[in-house]
Amino acid sequence: MRINHDIHIHTFLSNCSSDPEQVPANMIKQAAALGLKKLGFADHLWCKSLPGASNWYRPQDEEHVLQIKEQLPDDLMGIEVLIGCESEYTGEYCGIDAKHAELFDFVLIPGGHFHMVDFVRPKELQSPEELSNLLLERNIASLDFDFIDGLAHPFYILGQTAVMDQICALLRKSDKLKIFLDKAAEKQLSLEINRGYFPQLYGREDAGFHDESLLELLSLAKAAGCLFHFSSDAHNLPDLGSTLKMQAYAEQLCIREEDIYPLFRA
Ligand SMILES: [Zn+2]
Ligand SMILES: [Zn+2]
Repeated sequence: MRINHDIHIHTFLSNCSSDPEQVPANMIKQAAALGLKKLGFADHLWCKSLPGASNWYRPQDEEHVLQIKEQLPDDLMGIEVLIGCESEYTGEYCGIDAKHAELFDFVLIPGGHFHMVDFVRPKELQSPEELSNLLLERNIASLDFDFIDGLAHPFYILGQTAVMDQICALLRKSDKLKIFLDKAAEKQLSLEINRGYFPQLYGREDAGFHDESLLELLSLAKAAGCLFHFSSDAHNLPDLGSTLKMQAYAEQLCIREEDIYPLFRA
């Protein structure tokens, strides 16, 4: 299997992208130059009529996110383009429902946006034990949404790089991991292999976070029969297409073409 897709990339429509060059025309051009075959745009979304949005999410509604359709260039340079979204599940509210999901080619629900305190994560839950448990509970619950295609970064907690090795060890030890992986495999939903999983591969030194921690979790997911997609989660042009760099890890994990979620195969 050659990695030839980058699913879950953000454009300048996402409020956390600070790169005005991060627009579809530039991104498609770069993807074509890198030899990618499929791109999945996934800007942050909270649908207008659905309750529970935070102030950060509220302006990023479907009308805002779907502006991307007018931004697409006429010439897609041979790239297959999917218009998706990265919405949110807070444990109480979800930023998308079945009806709104029809507006998109795919829907991802993220795990681990726990930097959104008292929105996605209750502030009293702070220890690695509590965070790893919350991540698995949310992942398991998110799989019940029958309109989603997969989970964005289900094994990564934002803002916790100092203790990610510890969190991964706790995830591996948890009884809930098997429940989560078996459920994802049974439902044939896609688990993301995100650039953020591998600090060393992308040249970062992190004393408390090593690529091996995620590789161990992903090999358990592979053994459970899960499906996957690769994602740069790029918010700027330099990161776009950096999924290609994960090829050696894909081989190490023995991920075959048929282990990729069908919609995301190119
Ligand atoms: Zn995310
Ligand atoms: Zn994202």
